[in-house]
Amino acid sequence: MKLNIKDKFTTQLPADPNMENSRRQVTEACFSYVTPKQTSNPQLIHVSPEMLLKLGLTEVDAKSDEFLKVMTGNRVLENTTPYAMCYGGHQFGNWAGQLGDGRAINLFEVEHENKSWVVQLKGAGETPYSRSGDGLAVLRSSIREYLCSEAMYYLGVPTTRALSLALTGDQVLRDVMYNGNPAYEKGAIVSRLSPSFLRFGSYEIFAARQDHKNLKVLLDFTINQHFSHLGKPSKDTYLQFFAEVSERTLEMIIHWQRVGFVHGVLNTDNMSILGLTIDYGPYGWLEGFDFGWTPNTTDRQNKRYRYGNQPNMGLWNLYQLANALFPLIEDAKAMEAVLEKYTTDFELQSLKMMRSKLGLQSEVKSDQLFIQDLEDLLQLTETDMTIFFRNLGDFNKDEASEGLTIINEAFYNITELSDTIRQQWNAWFDRYAERLQTESISDSQRKSQMNAVNPKYVLRNYMAQLAIDKADQGDYTLIDELFQLLKKPYEDQPEHQKWFAKRPEWARHKVGSSMLSCSS
Ligand code: AMP
Ligand code: MG
Repeated sequence: MKLNIKDKFTTQLPADPNMENSRRQVTEACFSYVTPKQTSNPQLIHVSPEMLLKLGLTEVDAKSDEFLKVMTGNRVLENTTPYAMCYGGHQFGNWAGQLGDGRAINLFEVEHENKSWVVQLKGAGETPYSRSGDGLAVLRSSIREYLCSEAMYYLGVPTTRALSLALTGDQVLRDVMYNGNPAYEKGAIVSRLSPSFLRFGSYEIFAARQDHKNLKVLLDFTINQHFSHLGKPSKDTYLQFFAEVSERTLEMIIHWQRVGFVHGVLNTDNMSILGLTIDYGPYGWLEGFDFGWTPNTTDRQNKRYRYGNQPNMGLWNLYQLANALFPLIEDAKAMEAVLEKYTTDFELQSLKMMRSKLGLQSEVKSDQLFIQDLEDLLQLTETDMTIFFRNLGDFNKDEASEGLTIINEAFYNITELSDTIRQQWNAWFDRYAERLQTESISDSQRKSQMNAVNPKYVLRNYMAQLAIDKADQGDYTLIDELFQLLKKPYEDQPEHQKWFAKRPEWARHKVGSSMLSCSS
């Protein structure tokens, strides 16, 4: 296995001088050196051929004993120095102090084809940041991260990537619903890749400790490595950096809204500085379109991270980042302008995104109300978001009365459709037909444009759960089937039609399918 290793994070940033793997506060350092834990019986379950290529590896490499050992933490490559990153974060609205990589260990950075990737193991054992945790991950959450990060990539959503999924051979104790019923589960490790795993919380921790010296060191490093197009670090560049992070964050969240992804834990330690979807935990996919939905039972009371609130939470998190960067920028007005722009851009981009989902090319003032009325209608009865928008592509502007029939399949309970609701839908379809008459493209052109933004296949919550249930019994075929399916989410794939279906009733209240916690 030949890798072009070029470590920058560890060679350019301050290290924690304490080499002991004990839980503690780590100050004046960006990371601590750690060695991954040896596991009793490592076994690869799945490897992404695309990500192998990104690192300059082949499928033959992936079959080697060395690959298995490195990607499960059982061997440290020569001249590499694994480490855990120090960061803080606001969790559910409150400053939580130091968090850090409690169960993620970065192995090394690989440069290939002018791109740089940090290779990180999730679930490879304790670090100084493990707090009360064991540093491990279980199979179910690892399958969820592995499948979802790749699915997101193919949906066109900025995300970290996944390289491999492996069993450790060890058992891990988890109380899934935090209700006093701990049980042993299979331990697993995902190796994941990103140009950087820096988070908003990476900057917040230095600001909270008033360590402006290291805050600057980290920010300069970030700009030189990942935002070099902005120019040499200076006050002005810092501000531009903040503006770009804000733009990228918004862009990512608009994509989430488009595909119906709910992250579940939008704490500032889970916000990538590169605007990538990161830390797949109790995330979920909208089935019934519902702005109030969150899959995370830990957030059931306040629903802070519900679908409709994600754009606001992105902004809230950017405020925290602004506070952290302020000592280096010292221009409150300019920073506020960036945050205000987020709000106005959100309105514009959200409208643009919804227009694209409806296949509307031109911009008409009344679209905003028209879209709002649709969103209200979608929430009157449980209506599957993915099926609704995908089938809407078949709408014929000369046959408005067929509208309801075309989207019929999206309704979970057809008997809930009272005459009044039907009338409301028909009135909306009449408006849609009228609106489409003003467009210059044909129905079939519109359909193909809509199909490029309205996915046919997403990783529905129950689909991941089915793959998990099988994997628990040692059958990994469904992991591969879903992995392949989700590489082409916008294509018809008639052989996979069964995955273009509403969530089955059994999954409605099942733990893992509709109820998830932070336990992973
Ligand atoms: P999360 O909400 O999953 O992103 O995790 C928040 C913090 O808790 C991060 O600092 C994680 O590294 C840490 N953490 C989560 N699970 C564990 C675990 N099993 N062992 C140690 N640290 C953990
Ligand atoms: Mg996290």
